[in-house]
Amino acid sequence: MVAPPWPWKVGWCSLCDQGWLQIRRTSITNKLTVVCAECETQYDTPEDALQVKNAGAYDVSVDGVTSDPEDQEVELAGWVPFVK
Ligand SMILES: [Zn+2]
Repeated sequence: MVAPPWPWKVGWCSLCDQGWLQIRRTSITNKLTVVCAECETQYDTPEDALQVKNAGAYDVSVDGVTSDPEDQEVELAGWVPFVK
């Protein structure tokens, strides 16, 4: 499979209107999260991200850096249906 330029995107960020909301995995807390690639607004779930609910600012010192999640992790979280 060829990696798309923006893997795991669930939607366009309506706050900054400049970036994709992407599913990422955090290195310190090791959890899935949804983060805007541009403004780094963070959500705990894709539902929240799409409804712009409970938006937070991503904090690297708390959660660590983010990386692309494995297919399996996204499946287990039940977030596959949100992936565009
Ligand atoms: Zn944004």
